[in-house]
Amino acid sequence: MPELPEVETVANGVHERTHGQVIEAVWTSGKPQTFKSPPEEIAETLTGARIDKIHRVGKTIVCDLTQAEEEKAQFLIHLGMTGRLLVSEPDVPMPPHTHAVLTLSGGREIRFVDARRFGRLSVHHLAAHAEKYEGPGREPLTISVEDFIALFRGRKTPIKAALLNQSLLHGVGNIYADESLFRAGIRPRRQAGRLNRAELSKLREALTVVLKHAIQLGGSSVSDYVDADGVRGFFQLEHKVYSRTGKPCVVCGTPIKKITVGGRSTHFCPACQK
Ligand SMILES: [Zn+2]
Repeated sequence: MPELPEVETVANGVHERTHGQVIEAVWTSGKPQTFKSPPEEIAETLTGARIDKIHRVGKTIVCDLTQAEEEKAQFLIHLGMTGRLLVSEPDVPMPPHTHAVLTLSGGREIRFVDARRFGRLSVHHLAAHAEKYEGPGREPLTISVEDFIALFRGRKTPIKAALLNQSLLHGVGNIYADESLFRAGIRPRRQAGRLNRAELSKLREALTVVLKHAIQLGGSSVSDYVDADGVRGFFQLEHKVYSRTGKPCVVCGTPIKKITVGGRSTHFCPACQK
């Protein structure tokens, strides 16, 4: 599943190629699982709207729109497991499992392709909600140390599970939880509420560094993640524990262990992480 760096890479790529353009036409497949808002409502909201900005909130791609008569709206794209948001020339053959096509004034198309259909498309009307979409939790790249520490206070769940809880921090998934716990030297099963200030502050720092580095490298390509041009990312080459079960730790040589925490496979170094 794409996590924060992959979603940000896609959002930035689509933004660069499409902002300022008007959506002239919208086609949807009508497959019910994909559309959290009714497809007719999506088509009505998007058609004729200008794309002001495409950015990331948590694991959601948010497209800020200005409609006719200056009404503001947002188009929300959640990639789910296998969702892809591509910017294509219209003569490029339509990939299988295409569920939405936005035809732009510049001549290109934004295509939403999703084989397994866990992705979700919806619209958010700012007149009705007043607030912009803010996501389920706090933003890991901008949260302060004090707020980060406060998130985990009194929590009896393992720190790995707390990192994956999207209502605490949104955008962190399995890869970046494992990688940041390794870099902070913290065992994934440690109780979140029992970590001290120094450990939590180190974890926040590690998480920020890992996420920013991954964004620079275009995300991690595991399974079928690709960016807006269909290009793979490179952060998977920097994974130190994720999916390295049995391989020597890059720091101490101890074989990386795999366990299950909160139902998710979890990788760590039994020597470096305390
Ligand atoms: Zn080690």
